[in-house]
Amino acid sequence: MRNQEIADRFNEIADMLDILGEDAFRIISYRRAARQLEALTEDVEDLVRKGRVASIPGIGQALGEKIEEYVTTGKIRYHEELKARFPPGVLDMLRVRGIGPKKVKQLWQELGITDIETLRKAAQTHRLSKLKGFGEKTEEKILRSIELMKEGESLFLLAPAHAIAEAVLAHLRKSAPVGQLAAGGSLRRMKEIVHDIDILATSKDPGAVAQAFTTMPGVREVLASGESKSVVLLATDDRFIQVDLRIVEPGSWGAALQYDTGSKDHNIHLRTMAQKRGLTLNEYGIFRDEKKIAGETEEDVYRTLGLRWIPPEMREDQGEIELAAEGELPRLVEDKNIHGEFHVHTNATDGVDPVEAMVDRAQELGYAYVGISDHSVSSTVAFGLSAEQALARRDVFRAMNRERKGFTVLFGTECDILDGGEMDYPDEVLKEFDFVIGAVHSRFTLPIQDMTARIVAAIRNPYVNILAHPTTRKIGQRDPIQVDLDDVYAACASTGTAIEIDAYPDRMDLNGTQARAAHNAGCVIAVDTDSHAKGQLTWMHFGVGTARRAWLTAADVLNAWPLEKVRDFLH
Ligand SMILES: [Zn+2]
Ligand SMILES: [Zn+2]
Repeated sequence: MRNQEIADRFNEIADMLDILGEDAFRIISYRRAARQLEALTEDVEDLVRKGRVASIPGIGQALGEKIEEYVTTGKIRYHEELKARFPPGVLDMLRVRGIGPKKVKQLWQELGITDIETLRKAAQTHRLSKLKGFGEKTEEKILRSIELMKEGESLFLLAPAHAIAEAVLAHLRKSAPVGQLAAGGSLRRMKEIVHDIDILATSKDPGAVAQAFTTMPGVREVLASGESKSVVLLATDDRFIQVDLRIVEPGSWGAALQYDTGSKDHNIHLRTMAQKRGLTLNEYGIFRDEKKIAGETEEDVYRTLGLRWIPPEMREDQGEIELAAEGELPRLVEDKNIHGEFHVHTNATDGVDPVEAMVDRAQELGYAYVGISDHSVSSTVAFGLSAEQALARRDVFRAMNRERKGFTVLFGTECDILDGGEMDYPDEVLKEFDFVIGAVHSRFTLPIQDMTARIVAAIRNPYVNILAHPTTRKIGQRDPIQVDLDDVYAACASTGTAIEIDAYPDRMDLNGTQARAAHNAGCVIAVDTDSHAKGQLTWMHFGVGTARRAWLTAADVLNAWPLEKVRDFLH
């Protein structure tokens, strides 16, 4: 699939036109086309072959020809011509948060800054504050954004890392004689950020597995290759992720998987327990003197230490070992417990698919209900809907509910929480929705007291049912807002407002630790994907993983409840 490659080029064309100050309409059409390509589930090469490029919504003749040109020649001449007009590095500056095309133009043409490193130095030496629209605050922000970017270069978000791991596992299963096979590490614990991928396998022919691993598609460099351990760098988008493969004896499978899954603190705690019993625990098994007494399965390993098997998501040494010893582990929520979700966008605002497609997908996932929550009017970057536009859609929802027997579409909104804590729609509009999600999308830098008061005021609004992405962080891009989360949890608990785990890969907000604190404070948790395309609804898996990291059971999760109970909660 080259869909993403073409989308990237279209976005770059839009960026370049924007910096050059070209016609806004053309810029928008390239950006829209890029979004469509990103969301397209079909392979664009197939569409070109079948002469059906024009069937992609938002792609007219001119853009269609550029897609064909790329598929046949591997480049877009227009893209190359534009690019030749920019010194190398200029476009990279757009990756710094807070630097848009207009600012890039200023930096380049007025100060001669053409790359991120020079930009960083200029911000440190306050050269930027000479420019119109750049103050000391902007300089600080730019420095922090560059820092975040550097951090981000060594981390991978859970969802894409998970997809890579799945592809590696599928490749090994298909092309080598593997017995047991799994990904361990923080990926298995469903941490929202991973640094590399650890794969474990057993095999009768370790050499063949190592061979299949080091020659799989996408391997850029083999760092180590052997019968017990191989390490490769795998190409992914524009960078590389390290993937380790360990091949172990079947009798050590459980011990190796346990060891490899971590966390470090959890494992140290287990080793100490083993020592107290006169045992040795390592990646090969549990030993009494020299004799191995467990190791073939994880269950064995835990049982030998007097523990129930502990779900990987809980293995952070936060009290789970004590619970396992008492046989008191909670029964964690699972994917199959989820009956629906609430935070879903459509092409009425900044999503790419029409409402019917989003609802179809939710139904295919086996849900009983789905809430559609497009943006409110103040979200201008997200093409927010006026109250009239929003309410006018209600009939569409009613019609869908008449047609789809046994499935319910809930009519909602993701309504901006304005700077002072009032909602973007007045109460008489809010009360018309089946549910209201409140969300902060602006003024991320308010001082902590003001931000907390702002969010708590929204939670107290009787029509607000769910607080979305409470810290507003974007991993690798934007720090969390300054807010007293304990006050937020207390307000949610006392008003019966659910608080969200937003499973959009770069949000994962709340994270596991925070969601656990919210639950302990008495909050109901909603697990949502914040989908902007139908293919994104399956990110629910990572939201559920986060809920499991928060030790939540199905009873704790709003969208694991049946519709009737959900309706009661929303009213
Ligand atoms: Zn939002
Ligand atoms: Zn949203």
